[in-house]
Amino acid sequence: MKIGMVSLGCAKNTVNSEQMLWLLNEAGYEISGDLADVDIIIVNTCAFIESAKSEAIENILEFAELKKEGRLKKIIVAGCLPQRYREDIKAELPEVDAMVGCGSFGAIVEAVRAVEAGLKPELFGDINSPCEETDRVVTSGDGWAYLKIAEGCDNHCAFCVIPSIRGKYRSRPIDGIVREARDLAGLGVVELILVAQDVTAYGTDFGGKRMLPELLRALSETDGIERIRLHYLYPDEIDDALIREMASNPKIVKYVDIPIQHINDAILERMNRRGSGGEIRELIKKLRREIPGVVIRSTLITGLPGEGEAEFEELMAFLREARMERVGVFAFSPEEGTPAAEMPDIPPREVAERRAELVSELQAEIMDEFNASRVGKTLRVLCEGYDRFAECWFGRSEADSPDVDGKVFFTGPAAPGKLVDVRITETLDGELLGEAAK
Ligand code: SF4
Repeated sequence: MKIGMVSLGCAKNTVNSEQMLWLLNEAGYEISGDLADVDIIIVNTCAFIESAKSEAIENILEFAELKKEGRLKKIIVAGCLPQRYREDIKAELPEVDAMVGCGSFGAIVEAVRAVEAGLKPELFGDINSPCEETDRVVTSGDGWAYLKIAEGCDNHCAFCVIPSIRGKYRSRPIDGIVREARDLAGLGVVELILVAQDVTAYGTDFGGKRMLPELLRALSETDGIERIRLHYLYPDEIDDALIREMASNPKIVKYVDIPIQHINDAILERMNRRGSGGEIRELIKKLRREIPGVVIRSTLITGLPGEGEAEFEELMAFLREARMERVGVFAFSPEEGTPAAEMPDIPPREVAERRAELVSELQAEIMDEFNASRVGKTLRVLCEGYDRFAECWFGRSEADSPDVDGKVFFTGPAAPGKLVDVRITETLDGELLGEAAK
């Protein structure tokens, strides 16, 4: 049986997909990237918000159509969607042959064997069990890879379902992470992107102490690793020890990704977020002061319960003042089972969406300004490949994370997976153009 995989959602889920691919490979299954020519498809899903659920269901329905036409034998649905909607999938998507929850990624081979035998397994292991130390097939671009350092979350923001799907916060042991970093370096990876629901909490479940600086020091000793990027930091856990490490360790990318969600005190409190708007403002000033040249990314939610015109204006005024280089924004999606979904004063959906557009428009101006400030500079770029249509190389500078930020397109000598110095000559629709140093 030939197996295909569709991985939806965030980078943490990508790592789970990569681990499942490795387990299937080890078990002798043939993996194919040509999804029109596989016998079994695994859809590893996200169910964080409405749009993610719709995307997952659309994917499943497309494969159900192929199955009806006899072009696909089995469908396995893994990850957050079955973890959250097990009974609904059973009742409404009879084409699904197996479900694998977030506590059972390691049992994917068992699931495949069971569907081959004509069974309809439902594997839902403990979502609070320790992170599995499983190898993986790296599917990211040349020269970089995600490295998951923890699973789950204990923050319980009022709008978020993640803790109920992914379980409590569990850090991976430091030696397992370092070993994986060495293996990745051996494969040619030069940039590690550390991911977790909250990287700042790393180690707190071992004995209460934050251990991210210690982990960063250990990882930066790995030969071959030149860049370490962090996704995502919880604002009130960014302490002096971490700022010092980021400022002084040349391998740590000066890119801070802090999803603040909002800036209004009353909304932050209602959303069960720790720290006030004032503390967030101070933190941003401190990061800019202590880490020269730092690029700040954040994620915001518009239309949260209690967000009237005044609260939204406060958010816009903050963005104009903070000038964060990167911002992603979502319209609030009331998720069943979360406290926020039951709260009064939820703005209408169209208001939330319009506000999200206004944030995007403002941020596009701020980003253009930032990009313009980089023209004439020489940036260290990780070359990710060659664009045949544009007839030039493309890659990412320290200020660019994969998928969410822009790219640098450049001419001159380079090779995929290698770091190269690129002189930026102009900007184009949010991207940078330049020439590699000869
Ligand atoms: S920090 Fe909040 S928003 Fe992020 S995963 Fe945890 S509960 Fe969800």
